[in-house]
Amino acid sequence: MEYPALFLKRGEDARLRAGHLWVFSNEVDVERSPLTGFAPGDACAIVDHRGKAIGVGYVNPNSLIAARLVARGLEHALDTSLIVHRLNVALSLRERLYAQPYYRLVFGEADGLPGLTVDRFGDVLVAQATTAGMDRRKDEIRDALVKVIKPRQLWWKNDAGIRALEHLAEVVELGHGEPGGEVFAREGRLEFRIDPVGGQKTGWFYDQRENRDQLARLVAGKRVLDMFSYLGGWGIRAAAEGASDVVCVDASAAAVETIAANAERNGVGERVRALRADAFDHLRALREARERFDVVILDPPAFIKRKKDAAEGRLAYRRLNELGMQVLARDGLLVTCSCSHHLPRAALLDGVQQGARHLDRQVQMLIALQQAPDHPVHPAIAETEYLKGFICRVLPA
Ligand code: SAH
Repeated sequence: MEYPALFLKRGEDARLRAGHLWVFSNEVDVERSPLTGFAPGDACAIVDHRGKAIGVGYVNPNSLIAARLVARGLEHALDTSLIVHRLNVALSLRERLYAQPYYRLVFGEADGLPGLTVDRFGDVLVAQATTAGMDRRKDEIRDALVKVIKPRQLWWKNDAGIRALEHLAEVVELGHGEPGGEVFAREGRLEFRIDPVGGQKTGWFYDQRENRDQLARLVAGKRVLDMFSYLGGWGIRAAAEGASDVVCVDASAAAVETIAANAERNGVGERVRALRADAFDHLRALREARERFDVVILDPPAFIKRKKDAAEGRLAYRRLNELGMQVLARDGLLVTCSCSHHLPRAALLDGVQQGARHLDRQVQMLIALQQAPDHPVHPAIAETEYLKGFICRVLPA
C-alpha cells in the first residue's frame, strides 16, 4: 500500500460503501491509526476494520471531517493525472449542457474532487479550495487545469469562511497567468462583468441560471423588484425579457456600482435601477411608501449557515417572504429562494404559506426551482443539494 492507512472503526465503512465520501473524526480507529500521525492534507488509504481498503483520500486531523475519499480502490494516486481525469469527466458534462464555456466546471464532491470548486468564465477560471487536502494540491490542480482548459488566468479565491474549519487562512491569489483584463460571466446572450478578486464567492452565481430561464416567460411588461440582486443576474435578465421597469437592491456598494454598467452593456440601461440598501429595511420602506411590483425576487444569502441556527433562520425566511408579499401587486409573482442546505425545501414553502396566511393572501406554487445542473447533486451526500426555490402566484384571499 503506497499511502499510510487510516483505519475505520467497525461498521464505520457502511456510509462510504453507500457512496458517501466523508470520514468523521469519531469514526477513525485512532488506536490503530492516530490522527496525530497525519499532517493536514496528507494522502491516506482509507481502510475498514478488517483491513480491507476502501480507497484513497486525504486527511485533516484538525477537522471534524477527518478524511475525504477521492478514489475507490488503490489504483489511483492523488496526483495530477487523477485530477486531469476528473476534470475531463466534469468538462464533458458541462459541454453537453452549455453552448458557451461559462459554467461551474467543478462542484466538489459531486464531481469526485471533494473540497474543490472551479467556475469558468471563458478563458478565466476562479477556483476555491475548502479543505487542507485540496489546498496542499494547488500546484497539481493548476497543472491539471492548464492541461485540460488552457486558461488565460486561474484565480484562487480562497476566502470562504468554511476554510476556518480546516484551519486554513483566507488568501486570494493568482495561480496562473498574468493579472489584468476584464472578466465576464455569460448566460445565453447576456454578459455580466464580474470581479474574480473582490466579488462574492467565485464572482458569479451560475446556480440560478436555469431558474432565471423559468422566470423569463413571465416578466414581459412587468415591474420587477430584484432583492439581493448582486450584479443583477435576475433583474437584468428580466429587463432583457421585456420587463418594463426593474429595481435591483443589494447591500454591497461594489455590486450595486457594477449593475448599471452591466445593464448598459446588455442594452437595458434605461429600464434597470440599482440601489444600495439593506433588504429588510428597504422592503419596509417600499411597503410604507405603498410601492407595488408585479414580480418580487428574493434571493438572499444563506440565513442558516450552521444547523443550530435553523430555528432563527426559518423565521428570517418567513419574515423576508412576508415583506416581499407586502410589496407585491394584486395577482403578483413571488420568486423565493434559499441556498441554505439546512433549510429543507418544504420549510421554505411553509414559510411562504405562513406569511401569506398572516397577510390573508392565497399562494399558488407554480414552478419549483433548484440548482443548475452544472452543480450536480451527489445522491449520497445531502450537503451537495442546497439551492431551492419557488415561483409563486400570490392572490388576495
Ligand atoms: N441574486 C444574486 C445572488 C445573491 S447572493 C444572483 O442571482 O446573482 C446574496 C447577495 O445578498 C449578495 O450580493 C450580498 O451582497 C447581498 N446581501 C447580503 N445581505 C444583505 C442584506 N441584508 N440586504 C441586502 N443585500 C444583502
